[in-house]
Amino acid sequence: MDFAPTRAAARARLAAFLPAAGRRYAETRNADDGPRAGGRSNVSQLSPWLHAGLIGETEVLEAVLSAHSPRAAEKFIAEVFWRIYFKGYLEQRPAIWADYCTGRDDALAALAANAGLRKAYGEAVEGRTGIQAFDVWAKELVETGYLHNHARMWFASIWIFTLRLDWRLGADFFLRHLMDADAASNTLSWRWVAGLHTRGKHYLARADNIARYTTGRPEGALAAPGLAGDEAEPLTEPQDYGRQKLDLPPPVSAADFAQPFALLLHDEAAHHAP
Ligand SMILES: Cc1cc2nc3c(=O)[nH]c(=O)nc-3n(C[C@H](O)[C@H](O)[C@H](O)COP(=O)(O)OP(=O)(O)OC[C@H]3O[C@@H](n4cnc5c(N)ncnc54)[C@H](O)[C@@H]3O)c2cc1C
Repeated sequence: MDFAPTRAAARARLAAFLPAAGRRYAETRNADDGPRAGGRSNVSQLSPWLHAGLIGETEVLEAVLSAHSPRAAEKFIAEVFWRIYFKGYLEQRPAIWADYCTGRDDALAALAANAGLRKAYGEAVEGRTGIQAFDVWAKELVETGYLHNHARMWFASIWIFTLRLDWRLGADFFLRHLMDADAASNTLSWRWVAGLHTRGKHYLARADNIARYTTGRPEGALAAPGLAGDEAEPLTEPQDYGRQKLDLPPPVSAADFAQPFALLLHDEAAHHAP
């Protein structure tokens, strides 16, 4: 799949995926069919371009609704709104990101100080755990910069509950390699799998589920022996992240442009429309 970082490539991928964004997406989106030269057929793989701002959420939703009824496109629309929801959620709870950064740095320091941990971490990120599915995804992530959503869920679950590694190291591994690496979607999804986002509700990967949804991969259904069972407990934390009022600047008026001003662009503000 060619993820050329241009607006033309983003629009071409949107156009190619559009016919599949309706009922077909709802029925097939859970399957991880593995990397394909021409792109996967059941998911859009638009996230790297969305992340870079080369295409916008509104534009994607408008295109999908021009090709499908709201009912047929319901699932796809809902997924795009997960992205928007996570952004707003973190924006209103910045302490989650600050605590993640501190916890990640502590976890990295613990790795440096503990040879046993370092070995387990090395096996995980290099895909040498002996759990076939996990090892395949670890290598795929590093090689391609993309993982299917279901694979991300299974991977994070195995990382936390089977390998018992710190979730912040896993989130950091994703941020280092995903082309769509996103502070909000990534951190909050890892927290969701761990049982910290929806408190007490964690996501446990199951070998039969992984085999069922990976039959379309070039190497065939992936095996995942020895996963943590239903007795694995969700993670807990003492703090409660309350919603905080946004400290936004007032709206810009024409008069503001009479004064000298600076325009700040960051890695998620490169949208074609100002
Ligand atoms: C542990 C974990 C980490 C993740 N980290 C990231 C990340 O760093 N960046 C990121 O963009 N997404 C992340 N996701 C969400 C999701 O996996 C990806 O957005 C999706 O797989 C991107 O592939 P796609 O474009 O083919 O998705 P499609 O299935 O085609 O969905 C269309 C668009 O909807 C949005 N979307 C779809 N599913 C989700 C979801 N569950 N949460 C939020 N938005 C979604 C994406 O923008 C995506 O491009 C993570 C999920 C998990 C479980």
